Amino acid sequence: MEVKVCARCKKMYQYITGPNVCPKCKQIEEEQFQKVKEYLRENPGANMNKVSDETKYQLN
Ligand SMILES: [Zn+2]
Repeated sequence: MEVKVCARCKKMYQYITGPNVCPKCKQIEEEQFQKVKEYLRENPGANMNKVSDETKYQLN
């Protein structure tokens, strides 16, 4: 079992596999990702800065 520090909230968590964020932050990121996907569906061709502004999605 590996313990890592979350790249987002800096809390320690038990790392299994996947991105370097804790399960809670992973869920938040997935929700944000869904918003980005919806935004892009409604605004095809939007640039990433605009998408990031509109959805508060943060690129790591
Ligand atoms: Zn976290």
